Amino acid sequence: MLDQLRSIVQEVNTAANLTEVLNIAAQRVKEVMNVGSCTIFLHEPENKRFVLRATDGFHKESIGKVKIPEGQGLVGLVASKEEPINLENASEHPSYAYFPETGEERYTSFLGAPIIHHRKVLGVMFAQQEERRRFDEGEEAFMVTICAQLAGAIAHAEATGELRAQLARSRGEGLAAGRVQEIVLNGVPSAPGIAIGTAVVVAVAADLRTVPRRYIEDVEAELKLFKQAIRRTKEDLHSLDSSLVNKLSSSERALFGVYISMLDDHSLSDEVTKLIKGKLAAQSAWSQVIKEHVRNFEQMQDPYLRERASDVRDLGRRVLTHLQQAQSPNIEYPDNTILVGEELAAPMLADVPHDKLAGMISVRGSRNSHMAILGRALGVPTVMGAVDLPLEELDGCELVVDGHRGRVVINVSDPVRKSYEHQREEECLLAADLEELRDQPCVTSDNHRISLWVNTGLRIDTMLSLDRGAEGVGLYRTEVPFLMHERFPSEEEQRQIYREQLEMFAPRPVTMRTLDIGGDKALPYFPIEEANPFLGWRGIRVTLDHPEIFLSQLRAMMKASLGLNNLRIMLPMISSVSELEAAILLIDRAYNELTQEEGFELERPKVGAMLEVPAAVYQTREIAKRVDFLSVGTNDLTQYLLAVDRNNPRVADLYHTFHPALLNALKMIIDGALQENCQVSVCGEMAGDPLGAVLLIGMGYDVLSMSSANLLRVKSILRYVSLEEAQQLVSEALLLPDTSSVLAQLEQKLSRPELERLLRTSAVN
Ligand code: PEP
Ligand code: MG
Repeated sequence: MLDQLRSIVQEVNTAANLTEVLNIAAQRVKEVMNVGSCTIFLHEPENKRFVLRATDGFHKESIGKVKIPEGQGLVGLVASKEEPINLENASEHPSYAYFPETGEERYTSFLGAPIIHHRKVLGVMFAQQEERRRFDEGEEAFMVTICAQLAGAIAHAEATGELRAQLARSRGEGLAAGRVQEIVLNGVPSAPGIAIGTAVVVAVAADLRTVPRRYIEDVEAELKLFKQAIRRTKEDLHSLDSSLVNKLSSSERALFGVYISMLDDHSLSDEVTKLIKGKLAAQSAWSQVIKEHVRNFEQMQDPYLRERASDVRDLGRRVLTHLQQAQSPNIEYPDNTILVGEELAAPMLADVPHDKLAGMISVRGSRNSHMAILGRALGVPTVMGAVDLPLEELDGCELVVDGHRGRVVINVSDPVRKSYEHQREEECLLAADLEELRDQPCVTSDNHRISLWVNTGLRIDTMLSLDRGAEGVGLYRTEVPFLMHERFPSEEEQRQIYREQLEMFAPRPVTMRTLDIGGDKALPYFPIEEANPFLGWRGIRVTLDHPEIFLSQLRAMMKASLGLNNLRIMLPMISSVSELEAAILLIDRAYNELTQEEGFELERPKVGAMLEVPAAVYQTREIAKRVDFLSVGTNDLTQYLLAVDRNNPRVADLYHTFHPALLNALKMIIDGALQENCQVSVCGEMAGDPLGAVLLIGMGYDVLSMSSANLLRVKSILRYVSLEEAQQLVSEALLLPDTSSVLAQLEQKLSRPELERLLRTSAVN
């Protein structure tokens, strides 16, 4: 059964559209369960009914015709009970409703199960058989399992299918042109603000799934490119084949021959050529044809032929690589570019001129992914986790990115556009008002001084930070420049990068965090493949295992601080005292080498630890005794304390920095640090949220480090509240049972006209 289940799910997941998903499911379930019929009804909430959408066993004419109101018939019963129903004789059940157009009178027994996605009933699947019998436990469990697996595929196909049809209609292509409707998709709000602009879809290199559907004018040029890519791929394959003559047997090398003959065979290139002549770009045409072939192979019964799907995919990638190499310099970024991708990553930003980037949307990732953090740093409205985005269709479309609510609007209507434009204007006014605070100190209304520092990484956010009056850098993410390279940067390359950062802020302190890779921060040239990367080899664990990388980074940082002496070194992901001590030994070693053996005249930089792992919270005092400062990373601390992946949009609703557990942990840290007389700051995103900042200062934190985009907003709110009021809010919040009560309490206590504008655009929670 398990194999069959897997193969059904795999087929369903590669189906081209919703109808295909449902047909495959109905046919395959009927076959595997060996029943007379299998039928699927889908829910139409707007019409309060269920509609028969696929069947194998009922008359096909009934598809789309049979409609059952909510709560009626056995379908309505399965849906409302949200559990399977197993009947020896369906027609004897009081809820049974008969539909002559189905031909169902042949059947007696009935087994139905709900299809539920994110707590919502999407539909019902049921199997029927002529003989009178009760389905056994195994069959019931199979039906429940398949329905649970189907739900995700149905939800995705429903959303993307609808979008594809509408977008194709709006291009007047294929489908009869009809009225184009506005489409609103939800994702995770990740950087505040509104952007209206043109989508530029960036594909992951050699990934067939993410190639956008682009159209071209010059068909001849595109055909030439395509032929060239085929020729180059064949040359690669020939040279690969001959280079492996002595290493692989001829049967093992036979695959290259198969690839070459697939490329020689006209059927693939004819299909692609036809699409290109229809003005589809070569990359789009090639990936469309290859994906269709992959899907066909995957659906084959014969396991040998099914395996061929991966060969076709591999060949597809090889040709695509050549097409992408030949075409990469050609992307043109229009004004108000909305960068869209399956998984946006920092290097993709490098090519986009800063003044043209208006918004970002990523299918994967969530509010605290690094791309979202960069979005906030740059002040670029960002939506992450937009899982239903029809990527291939979006290139060149006009989009609205609503970074406050996490929405993407396609085919925006005039009234909605006007309202977004109005909101954008209001935000510009607020930003202009906030500018006036640039040179004002950050003091509470009862005169307590709070230091506002910034988090940096990209060169551009360094400039923005200086513009907004940052008092220092609380977190310089050194992995960002590492991400921009194609190999580890050398010690001298690093020294130059760090020097620039230290010089720009001098005499203000700059806290440089040692390399924090792993988790969701993968370097392309140092991949870490792990089942559970956030609990795996990351941060200090990697650098302690690779002293050669760690020492060269430490030496580069210290050399860069020559004559400036504003460097602070910070260690990420400390989870035990022994790790901390091992890292400090290496820092001392690098310092001694430089000062005693190489003659550099340097002050020993202050050394600090990040508190971002629950274990470290309970060891605050032990850690504080060994360092000059502490900094709390609320992004990871929230993730680890609440066991919620910061990148996973499915659990984004559970990721909350105002969770009382997190507030209590933060209080514990500050109390421990003060007892040891150790300076402590917060550099996670919570510090850049106006409400978060109020809670933090109420606990006793007086150094907050944040994205520069949030700095003036935080300064503004802190100038309106008194320390006493913040302390009172914290003591109440610490006793509250859950996040929503904390939020409600903050909203109620801080609801006053002068704060309204600021809080409406609160970024983090
Ligand atoms: C954090 O975890 O809060 C933090 C500041 O570090 P990063 O987001 O880079 O993991
Ligand atoms: Mg972290």
